[in-house]
Amino acid sequence: MLVVMQNHATPEQIERVVNVIREMGYEPRPMPGETRTTVGLVGNDGRVDGSRLESLDGVAEIIHVSKPYKQVSREWREENTVVTIAPGVSFGGKDIVIIAGPCSVESEQQIIASANAVRDAGATALRGGAFKPRSSPYSFQGLGKKGLELLAKARAETGLPIVTEALDDEGAHLVAEYADMIQIGARNMQNYSLLRTVGKLGKPVLLKRGMAATITDLLLSAEYILAEGNGQVVLCERGIRSFDTMTRNLFDLTAIPLVQKLSHLPIIGDPSHGTGLRDKVIPMARAAVAAGADGVMVEVHPTPDRALSDGGQSLYPEQFRNLVGELRAITSVIGRRVATLSPSPSPAAAGTPAPAAV
Ligand code: PEP
Ligand code: MN
Repeated sequence: MLVVMQNHATPEQIERVVNVIREMGYEPRPMPGETRTTVGLVGNDGRVDGSRLESLDGVAEIIHVSKPYKQVSREWREENTVVTIAPGVSFGGKDIVIIAGPCSVESEQQIIASANAVRDAGATALRGGAFKPRSSPYSFQGLGKKGLELLAKARAETGLPIVTEALDDEGAHLVAEYADMIQIGARNMQNYSLLRTVGKLGKPVLLKRGMAATITDLLLSAEYILAEGNGQVVLCERGIRSFDTMTRNLFDLTAIPLVQKLSHLPIIGDPSHGTGLRDKVIPMARAAVAAGADGVMVEVHPTPDRALSDGGQSLYPEQFRNLVGELRAITSVIGRRVATLSPSPSPAAAGTPAPAAV
């Protein structure tokens, strides 16, 4: 339930609403808006009698949220949520964020080369898995902590913020020490204990759609994170299973405008996992941006043929560079633009040579 205050409600009137919600045994969530404050009521499972709140001074109206998810819904919050992971790198505003990099961190040389290549081509964040959820226990499982250290090194060298996956509760704490954004993969979208953990960690989260998850399932999973007090969540459409074996997954572009209608959270597209085929990644990345996505996540590898995971869907750096140019053109006709990293205070991180010693 949402208590909408009148435009000129006083701080004392808002405070009174907050206290009454607490007395009723629920948790108040005041949300100051541009013109008026709303106070959300959380902790209820079912309809709450709002008559006591309705009669308080300064209250304009009571809204009962009709969806099964509450805090992620547009009913709860009208304006888009903007999630910032580094200076100049925000999801949910005018900018679209391009996250690129290899599927897995494989070696220092590989991740540094990938980071430099994607940064030079115009990416605004670096991806790379250190903990890999693989279908087979015998496949490469990632470098673990060493992989996180290498990602931190790549960030120091390029200034790119890091997006990397956490597989379990224990790993999430470790990932949070290194990452700018914690990825929850498709296979873990309904790992509710992990969702609660990243909710408590308070770092930005990239929540990928499960391969058999409905849009409602995705939004309910996001609700777990918000319910723990972390509103910094970006959703990701990465394809769902279908009967057609021509592609790895069916990239569900309609999910993008659907989610934007139902929720205030940003949503990006991952055409790499969405299609599983290198030559389909570029058209689907263009399509995701044209459909209104707040960003794209694309796998790029310096030598895809030698990749330890997902080489067949990874772009060559040159292909990625062309794609960024195309995405710039598409964003300009839909009133958006590709995000650019704000200059870093450190010359090394900004990629500019340090002044020569005199
Ligand atoms: C990934 O991004 O590397 C990944 C494993 O994706 P997903 O969880 O969407 O399969
Ligand atoms: Mn991958």
